[in-house]
Amino acid sequence: MTTPIKITVAKGDGIGPEIMDATMEILRAAGAPIEPVFIDIGAKVYERGVSSGIEPGAWDLLRETRVFLKAPITTPQGGGYKSLNVTVRKSLGLYSNVRPVRSLYPFVETKHPVLDMVIIRENEEDLYAGIEHQQTGDVVQSLKLISRPGTEKIVRYAFEYARQYNRKKVTCMTKDNIMKHADGMFHKIFDEIGAEYPEIEKEHIIIDIGAALLADRPFQFDVVCTLNLYGDIISDIVAQISGSVGLAGSANIGVNMGMFEAIHGSAPDIAGKGIANPSGLLNGAVMMLVHMGLPEAAAKISNAWLCAIEEGVHTGDIYKSGVSKKKVGTKEFAQAVVDRLGRSPGQFRPVDFGGNTRPLQIPAYKRKKVYRQLVGVDVFLCDETEDPQALGDALTRAAGSDMKLKLITNRGVKVYPDGMPETFLTDHWRCRFVHVDANPTGGPGGQPTYPPIKGDEVIELLGRIHSAGLEPIKTENLYYLDGERGFSLGQGE
Ligand code: NAD
Repeated sequence: MTTPIKITVAKGDGIGPEIMDATMEILRAAGAPIEPVFIDIGAKVYERGVSSGIEPGAWDLLRETRVFLKAPITTPQGGGYKSLNVTVRKSLGLYSNVRPVRSLYPFVETKHPVLDMVIIRENEEDLYAGIEHQQTGDVVQSLKLISRPGTEKIVRYAFEYARQYNRKKVTCMTKDNIMKHADGMFHKIFDEIGAEYPEIEKEHIIIDIGAALLADRPFQFDVVCTLNLYGDIISDIVAQISGSVGLAGSANIGVNMGMFEAIHGSAPDIAGKGIANPSGLLNGAVMMLVHMGLPEAAAKISNAWLCAIEEGVHTGDIYKSGVSKKKVGTKEFAQAVVDRLGRSPGQFRPVDFGGNTRPLQIPAYKRKKVYRQLVGVDVFLCDETEDPQALGDALTRAAGSDMKLKLITNRGVKVYPDGMPETFLTDHWRCRFVHVDANPTGGPGGQPTYPPIKGDEVIELLGRIHSAGLEPIKTENLYYLDGERGFSLGQGE
């Protein structure tokens, strides 16, 4: 007999305990060689005053077992609490979120009979950094951080995944027409790494039309690789149009570690009613078994699940009279899957993971030396003036003899010099200073020139701005990196 492998399991909140009990029942009946060790997470832990939603001692168990099967939790709204999901993903370096979604037509009603795709979502970066500041009375900032190592890892993972699972195409979705540096880097790295996979078709689509196409023509897509926030949104869209958000599972993969869950949340609206669909968590558990090198148990469960679905045994979220045969609750659905263990579906193609369970290997990041040259500074001010010209005049005087004020923007739009009277003004100003001899437009046909400035000149500049009675709230240094401009221009600059 195979020695059971210890895994960490959390029942979570809302429908979590119901769907986890159902999932564990199926795993047990299938003879999956696992030994669950349960931990508390979520509401109970937040209520004990632990703001991360997970007890400090649980990390040791997670490190020991390296596999975490997690039901959804309720994230308390408002200040002080951090999202447990984000904390676990980021703290354990679970950089890749893999969300396969397929249509179960004609047994589960959907407008999209042909839908079989995998969304591979970057899982650690982007706006999920949760670094937010109210900077002025009017303006709040949320930092979007995208790194080269983070992007390289996820893009390579997407291509390696496509290669391993015989997927034909990888589509990258970004908003690099607007975020030319952050999303632009993601797109550029996609092109760089994609070139190493000549047998795989590649395309890039702007996320807004991409989301529309996913909802309208999902058959066009195979593997979709995208940033954290876009991936979160589009995977719910795609799961919902496949039949129900309650169907799709999700794997969060790091180096030698994985967390497996449903893509949906704790569904407080149906909690305790015994009607939730356990399929999303069950599909997450199937991905877990494959990850653990237990493909036979995974296939046995998947095939029994497909049998139940094609025989029309459906929970309320996918029940449709005329299509479904029997409406069941969570426990009954689990029993229907248990009753079919050992059988293969008659209509769907039976699942066989054999040979496809090798964990994907992503090479360690090698940082290249980058030559950075400081060429200016954006000083952000809080000021209630309605007169950008007067502010510009005061800052021009404060600029001193080594630097000059290049422009002022308000929410990114140029308001000085030569602003437009129609532009709406908040109390949040970005004031760009460069070397006094800089020629950022380059003149007719010429290259822009940004002579370097020194770090201590920035500090002296801040002192002069402060002495002029103005209030700097933050600065951003402007760099050229290996000869490339590393900052965006103002709208209208
Ligand atoms: P949700 O996914 O919980 O629910 C959205 C809708 O889908 C609801 O109508 C719900 O009844 C339905 N639904 C979801 N899962 C279902 C299932 N298995 N069977 C049948 N119907 C199902 O999203 P929400 O209401 O926005 O979020 C509720 C809570 O869950 C929030 O606190 C949120 O922060 C949290 N959340 C947690 C996770 C996670 O733990 N991974 C993910 C998303 C949201």
